[in-house]
Amino acid sequence: MVEELFRQDAYLKEAEATVTALEERGVRLDRSIFYPTGGGQPGDTGLLRWDGGEARVVDTVKAGDDVLLVLAPEATRPAAGTVLHTTIDWARRLRHMRMHTALHVMSAVIKGDVTGGQVGADRSRLDFNLSGDVPVKEWVTEEINKLIALDRPVTPQWITDQELAARPELVKTMSVRPPMGAGRVRLLSIEGIDLQACGGTHVARTGEIGRVECVKIENKGKMNRRFIITLSS
Ligand SMILES: [Zn+2]
Repeated sequence: MVEELFRQDAYLKEAEATVTALEERGVRLDRSIFYPTGGGQPGDTGLLRWDGGEARVVDTVKAGDDVLLVLAPEATRPAAGTVLHTTIDWARRLRHMRMHTALHVMSAVIKGDVTGGQVGADRSRLDFNLSGDVPVKEWVTEEINKLIALDRPVTPQWITDQELAARPELVKTMSVRPPMGAGRVRLLSIEGIDLQACGGTHVARTGEIGRVECVKIENKGKMNRRFIITLSS
């Protein structure tokens, strides 16, 4: 089972790791700074370097209790046991972290049930089932930026599966249920703004998100609306 370094510290850009298994699509490692696709956040890309070789990581996915670093098809493969120097594409990941945290803030601004979401480096979205009026995008933009400007701390917390079962309001995105069964569940707290189950990577304070813009609101059904945001820088 992999040591999930990205969960302990989302700001790790490089780390040493050892190949535990070599597969057709890629490699498994004993420890990983690479985030695997999940919870609406894309998997990391990056580079593996070792004595005598290097390989591009084009995607990262979950593989049971492990993380599989997917390598470019033509890439040289390191053998099991090889010690690697691993590096993630930090500019891309940081945008994912800023976007992901911005979506948490948006979920506090818009009053409705979240029905889906997707983080992207350039655009991100949350879908809501709205019971009342649909807000205009200019209002959404201003409200999100007001909360971001408070520069609140963003911190993970842990609760037991039982505590989560007793507090269903902590699961906002019904289509992206948090992994349960491991005994404890990770919550993401944005002080005074949002608290919900989430296993993704986030920035440490809302101020690091920078300014965001709600660029589009799409009609996705009777009450369902898709709110799309971009980063202003
Ligand atoms: Zn999150």
